[in-house]
Amino acid sequence: MNYNIAVINGDGIGAEITPQAIKVLEVIGEKFNHSFKFNHVLMGGCAIDETGIPLPRETIDTCLNSDSVLLGAVGGPKWDNVPGHMRPEAGLLNLRAAMKLYANLRPARLFGALKNACPLRTDIAEKGIDMVFVRELTGGIYFGERGRRNTQSGVEAFDTECYSELEIERIARVAFEIATVRNKKVTSIDKANVLESSRLWREVVHKTAESFPEIEVGDMLVDNAAMQLVKNPSQFDVVLASNMFGDILSDESAMITGSIGMLASASLGDTKRNSSESKGHPLIVGLYEPIHGSAPDIAGMDKANPISAILSAAMMLKYSFGLNNESAAIETAVDKVLQNGVRTLDIKDGGTSNTVGTKQMGELICDAI
Ligand code: NAD
Repeated sequence: MNYNIAVINGDGIGAEITPQAIKVLEVIGEKFNHSFKFNHVLMGGCAIDETGIPLPRETIDTCLNSDSVLLGAVGGPKWDNVPGHMRPEAGLLNLRAAMKLYANLRPARLFGALKNACPLRTDIAEKGIDMVFVRELTGGIYFGERGRRNTQSGVEAFDTECYSELEIERIARVAFEIATVRNKKVTSIDKANVLESSRLWREVVHKTAESFPEIEVGDMLVDNAAMQLVKNPSQFDVVLASNMFGDILSDESAMITGSIGMLASASLGDTKRNSSESKGHPLIVGLYEPIHGSAPDIAGMDKANPISAILSAAMMLKYSFGLNNESAAIETAVDKVLQNGVRTLDIKDGGTSNTVGTKQMGELICDAI
């Protein structure tokens, strides 16, 4: 199989961790007989320096014509004072819009070897944490009507949460489809005791669930979900949430899995490509990136954990290309290296471990594959 992957290293540690993910994909290609072609393009601060804008047209075109996109991270203090619409992060928001990506997938898994890096009590961590957040990415309060107006009590500010049936149904469908290949359980988060948008959310989620009779679906109020994530995280499998609720809760779930340097994400839309070579699995074009930023405090020092980028590549194989065995081979290799006591500096589990740099962690994972 041949796959075209657009690669955006971006800024800061993006330029160090993304090459490790590419090395891993090359080893997977050799082992499983696939060919990955990498097209490098610019976005973020480095694109501003080179071209004057954060998202050059060439980058958009290359991403739209690729089978998927692998991204490191963008941003840094050097570009903190440029106008909002020209900031590196604006490039990322505009790329997501250009690719029509509305579903954000964030797995939160505690690797067995990292139990001591989990800030929760050992008896809670030992029950296991392995869930995936499915967060709506292009609607809700982050995109609703907003503004300020003068009132008798002074200036008033407002933001509006608005969801349509279409927006809710398509994200619910993604959650149910993912649940069919996991443990067949979806917990839908809302605030239906207060918000009208949440009441519609709940109605549409249950209507959509009728097409997936094998999936167990439950509702949970967002405030309860925030408590349950620290009290009993092993109860969750697929968690479906609106843009804002998913943003907040997925960061909470990230923290309980040890280090931000371990966490990958995928953003998906409806763009599918039927490849003659893909043996029935349509290529779902997606953007794959660590959940963290460009970590300017450690950039260029070979200190960053590349596992977030490597697991992002594993997600690409699974969700965009349907290469489940290849994806599992990467996860198993990461697990094996961690079991062997190898750590990067960010993983604080108090053990006597062998601390390595970014490149060496990448090489050890390649060797383990
Ligand atoms: P950050 O995620 O870059 O860093 C937070 C902390 O986590 C830092 O101490 C950093 O050293 C550490 N860290 C992050 N990733 C790590 C890794 N792989 N290995 C080891 N340690 C790691 O967040 P920040 O410092 O708030 O933001 C820095 C820049 O990144 C800002 O310009 C911000 O706007 C940008 N940002 C970009 C994205 C993105 O590209 N998707 C996301 C968030 C922030």
